[in-house]
Amino acid sequence: MFLSILKLFAGSHNRKFLRDCAPVVRRINAIEEEYQRLSDDALRAKTAEFRARHAKGESLDALLPEAFAAVKNAARRLCGSRKVVCEHEQVWEMVHFDVQLIGGIALHQGKIAEMATGEGKTLVATLPLYLNALSGRNCQLVTVNDYLARRDSQWMGHLLEWLGLTVGCIQNQMGSDERKAAYGCDITYGTASEFGFDYLRDNGMALSAEEQVQRDHHFCIVDEIDSVLIDEARTPLIISGPVAEEREPPYPRLRDDVAKLVDLQEKLVDRLLSELRTELGKLTEGAEPSQDAMDKLWLASHGIPRHPGLLRLKENGRLVKLLERHEGVLASEIEKDRRFHLKERLYFSINERNHEADLTQMGRDALRPGDLDAFVLPDLPTRFVELDRDASLTPERRAELRAEAEATYVRVSEEIHAIGQLLKAYTLYEADKQYVVQDGKVKIVDENTGRIMEGRRWSDGLHQAVESKEGVALEPENKTYATVTIQNYFRMYRKLAGMTGTAETEASEFHDIYRLPVVTIPTHRPCIRVDENDIVFKTRREKFEYAVKEIVEANRRGQPVLVGTASVEASEALSRLLTKNRVSHNVLNAKQHQREAEIIALAGQRGAVTIATNMAGRGTDIRLGEGVRELGGLYVLGTERHESRRVDRQLRGRCSRQGDPGRSRFLVSLEDDLMRLFSNAGIISSMLEKSFKEGEPLEHPLLNRSIGTAQKRVEGQNYSIRKRLLQYDDVLNQQRQIVYSVRNRALHSDEPRDTVLELVSEEVEDRLGPVFPEGGAPDVREATAFCDWFLTSFHLRLDPEELTCRTLEQSRELAVGKVRQFQAGRESHEPADMLRYLERHVVLRAVDRNWQNHLTEMEDLRRGVSLRSYAQKDPLNEYKSEAYKAFERLMRQLRNDVCTGIFRIATSMEALELMMRRAQGHVTASGPATESAPAAQAAPAAKPEPFRRVLPKIGRNAVVRIRKGPETLEMKWKKAESLVRDEGWELLETVSE
Ligand code: ADP
Ligand code: MG
Repeated sequence: MFLSILKLFAGSHNRKFLRDCAPVVRRINAIEEEYQRLSDDALRAKTAEFRARHAKGESLDALLPEAFAAVKNAARRLCGSRKVVCEHEQVWEMVHFDVQLIGGIALHQGKIAEMATGEGKTLVATLPLYLNALSGRNCQLVTVNDYLARRDSQWMGHLLEWLGLTVGCIQNQMGSDERKAAYGCDITYGTASEFGFDYLRDNGMALSAEEQVQRDHHFCIVDEIDSVLIDEARTPLIISGPVAEEREPPYPRLRDDVAKLVDLQEKLVDRLLSELRTELGKLTEGAEPSQDAMDKLWLASHGIPRHPGLLRLKENGRLVKLLERHEGVLASEIEKDRRFHLKERLYFSINERNHEADLTQMGRDALRPGDLDAFVLPDLPTRFVELDRDASLTPERRAELRAEAEATYVRVSEEIHAIGQLLKAYTLYEADKQYVVQDGKVKIVDENTGRIMEGRRWSDGLHQAVESKEGVALEPENKTYATVTIQNYFRMYRKLAGMTGTAETEASEFHDIYRLPVVTIPTHRPCIRVDENDIVFKTRREKFEYAVKEIVEANRRGQPVLVGTASVEASEALSRLLTKNRVSHNVLNAKQHQREAEIIALAGQRGAVTIATNMAGRGTDIRLGEGVRELGGLYVLGTERHESRRVDRQLRGRCSRQGDPGRSRFLVSLEDDLMRLFSNAGIISSMLEKSFKEGEPLEHPLLNRSIGTAQKRVEGQNYSIRKRLLQYDDVLNQQRQIVYSVRNRALHSDEPRDTVLELVSEEVEDRLGPVFPEGGAPDVREATAFCDWFLTSFHLRLDPEELTCRTLEQSRELAVGKVRQFQAGRESHEPADMLRYLERHVVLRAVDRNWQNHLTEMEDLRRGVSLRSYAQKDPLNEYKSEAYKAFERLMRQLRNDVCTGIFRIATSMEALELMMRRAQGHVTASGPATESAPAAQAAPAAKPEPFRRVLPKIGRNAVVRIRKGPETLEMKWKKAESLVRDEGWELLETVSE
């Protein structure tokens, strides 16, 4: 009831939008007609005119009709013109249709325009891009891959550049100069990950303002927005680099043991299943299996979830239903003990839904016979108390034993973790499904598109676990330098818009997370596609046989077929069957995606058969070849229902573009993952029992609906995973913004010293707190401690009495003033621009080092809190409060690093020495105390940072003057650099840039 009201409402919302657009479209078309009379130059001059009017305050909304008309008219003028796009010559033959104008209005208003495949969304985007670029800000268009960014920027650039705009495109292999030039254009095309990584590099890594490439997060249109913001959003963007590993990774060492354990478990499950089959065989018609039998089934599905014998048993819908019920019973609080004891009959237990693996006592015994404590975490607190109470120990021995206990703890927890990851690698990750092995590397296959995700790695050691399983070389684990989720990246834009063929099913997510409303734009011509009912088969084998039969028949007629599969493995299996039946075909999958656009473009030709793993976000439309229309157009045959309805709709939408004929059908088997995990077994099994005979497929509208329900459940689950990820990232996101703003201030300010002194001032104030307790007299001991800290950090002396006779405020002024004055004094013997460089460097280094450590800490924390959920606490809340504390520590450490860094770094060795002498002189000159601080004291008491010669950024071909002793030389920087860095030469000045 509520849903249908919502639908009605959404429908009326949509109708209102379309109604409001109608007069605007009429106006655009009327203006466009007038423009037809203008000369080319006069039309081109419109761009400058619009820009000037906007600069004078006319709003973009007001300019919209004229601007859209100018774009449309330019498109008209270009008809018949040629342009080479991605090495192929194209002829421009497009003038915006009315529905495309409507789509353009939606995008300008920051909405998602749902427009079917082949409606020409690429062209639609030119309208709002042109309009919004009139503001002079950088407008961006996100495509799903690099190839499309290049293609679309060149093809649409033909139109936009004619109108006088500049168009750039970001490609993966580009260096920062090229990137900067591309972002400098009015309009920039590129992929979400390139944009996101550029943001991370700009804010987390760039060492000078010139190195930053992006200039704006102003207006962004995301093409195939569902694919980008929903499918890709599950993995955050991470910039990482190798860490020096302290220990050998444990995986190779544990691999054989775990393989043996998996083997044992397989045998155990074999046995359970054979007992179960016997028992079920004896069962009279209609009787329920015993609890013991259900326990066995439960054990098998938690033992080896993808055991072939188990999958075969699960073809029986009734049994699946019973298992689900049993699962529910065992999950309850009352049955906790029984569940625990049941699990202990296995070597390990796997939870397929939650992706968890757990070793049991039996498993531990099998791994390390006789060693009761193997893989059990030592109870550290108790151990520590024991050691403290043991009076027979010397302090040294006690410390030693403590360290030992800690080391054991670390080693054991590492091993437990590694075993868990290996178990998952063996039981849940299959080659050619979740990953492929190529060139001796394990590469992740994107579940949603079937493409290889080059360079991405599973985190948390899972990748190394799979590498060990496959016997390939282990790649080093990485440390995170910077990370952001796709969601939080795109939420930075002042205005966001999107286009896709399928947004409707995810409308609520777009609304909740991005505040993006979805409007459905009608098609240019009515869609006449025929969508047939799903056909359900008992087994996968039957399903594929049927698919091959259908394909062969269509192929005989000459009708092109697009076959959708759910995995690379299924594509290959189907391909083999087709080859056996002598049907020539193309396979589009993870292993050959470079050619994909070309293959797709030909998929509508007579007699073409194309197999694809998931068509979402492919971005190329399929045109029908000659005579294909008469054969009924393209036939889309899905051989499995995807987890999400949207991906299925994408596949369907590939046929019947722009009023073409076409038909679509999905085949489903009870062995499919979706059916196994989430099907509404009730309805299906009862239907099956009545009418299911081997080889006799089922077809009924009711089945479509129950499959739809299963999909909705998976979609819901995936949405909550994404939302969860976002809730966690929101915490980090606020912190990231604070840290990045400190960093950017240091980077952009002409006076980085201001940032330094600000941080110094905050730290000083923080540390003065205890000296001036609330309502009490100044604390002398605390004042002394402060002065000690001040001396070790800055080599500058303060006396406790100087503080205790002042207020906190005055003391801070005094201390910070000393630092300010001393630093200013350095300008007399160190070049001012180099000092500025150093000051900037000190802040950046402190920010980066601490932020990166913080990221690692937060990752650990996140892993840690998920364990705490056992203690009935909400892990997210735990995470938030711990994250807050960690961030406070981070900021404190950061400020402290700046304080200690600033006077430990100089432009030359002499300058450093001079500075030290000055600091001591300072002590004697200004300090009322008689004794001067000895040199040993002036040197940092805490970990001294070694003197590092930090070199300013100088162009390699710049000529510089350098000096050593009496000798002065002039030479190019590329030669001089090593002399200055390593040979003790002093850089005097830059002679020419
Ligand atoms: P979508 O992204 O919506 O699936 P595309 O932008 O790839 O669609 O365009 C599909 C095809 O339609 C392209 O080959 C394009 O040349 C063509 N097309 C788009 N708009 C027009 C138009 N106004 N007139 C003629 N052809 C058009
Ligand atoms: Mg497109």
